[in-house]
Amino acid sequence: MEEAPPAGGPGREVASLVERLRSGDRRAVARLISLVEDGARDRLREVAETLNPSTGRAMVIGLTGAPGVGKSTLANALVTSYRAAGRTVGVLAVDPSSPFTGGALLGDRVRMQHHALDQGVYIRSMATRGHLGGLAWATPQAVRVLDAAGCEVVLVETVGVGQAEVEVAGLADTTLVVLAPGFGDAVQVAKAGILEVADVFVVNKADKDGADTVARDLRQMLHLGDERPWGVPVVKTAAERRQDVDELVERIAAHRAHLEAGGGLAERRRRRAAREVEELALADLRAELGELGGGEAVDKLAERVAAGELGPYSAADELLARVRGER
Ligand code: GDP
Repeated sequence: MEEAPPAGGPGREVASLVERLRSGDRRAVARLISLVEDGARDRLREVAETLNPSTGRAMVIGLTGAPGVGKSTLANALVTSYRAAGRTVGVLAVDPSSPFTGGALLGDRVRMQHHALDQGVYIRSMATRGHLGGLAWATPQAVRVLDAAGCEVVLVETVGVGQAEVEVAGLADTTLVVLAPGFGDAVQVAKAGILEVADVFVVNKADKDGADTVARDLRQMLHLGDERPWGVPVVKTAAERRQDVDELVERIAAHRAHLEAGGGLAERRRRRAAREVEELALADLRAELGELGGGEAVDKLAERVAAGELGPYSAADELLARVRGER
């Protein structure tokens, strides 16, 4: 059940929050992210449409990797580096598997507490709240909120290396895939299909045995299998003691420079926008089909396809014709 919209409707509420966001009110940032995390369709729409003109300035960095490799520790170290350089930073920790809400998790993020009082840092966790696939819709809007709030760097940290995480990583201008000795190797990376999404590989816990082997295997795999013009670097870090984090920051900057020089950043953002537009249109199409009794219609058509009475393409034609109001 969706809660009743406030007086004036979602449009009014979002508009006033955006006004507060623009005047630097931190609570408005938190409130807007909660709105998108709730996933109510009309609010997501309102937030995205209202904020989009004021976005595009943030450098969005994705961090993904198995639980335990040290992503939070690394994110924390990166925040320290960017803050030292005087840049404002937003951190979104996205946990597709967690049923807990952002607010609840925030207090647990011990590693980030160091930055909790820093006015130049916004930290926020997001969980699914039971909406399957909801994060795929909510995360881009949450990034828009932080971007519009003036964050120069937005770190999006995802837990795990599954499909959902790869999608979230696709939001970023630069995606870091983090590994650590004992937590996955090059073979797993290849299997999970994340080779293609990685712009920089990080082998964290370089202070531990096995880090060199992980790095070497990765380099070998990249050498054999990756033909992108950007030579994906493998950076070893020991995030806990801040070792080589500055080198990582340099590599991220180099990737950004590479994208900007070759028109790749605009291209990436266009591709991302294309995907978003297409997904929104498809979701609308699904919703329309549902309203037209599409589920039932699909079942009936499927029965005929399975029985060999109708070809699958003709069945799809019939379904689409329904949406177009032809039948
Ligand atoms: P996440 O689940 O990927 O976010 O990983 P965390 O950042 O929570 O780190 C998992 C564990 O690894 C924690 O106990 C960290 O203290 C530890 N850790 C993080 N970075 C390093 C590192 O560079 N070296 C070592 N030895 N341990 C680390």
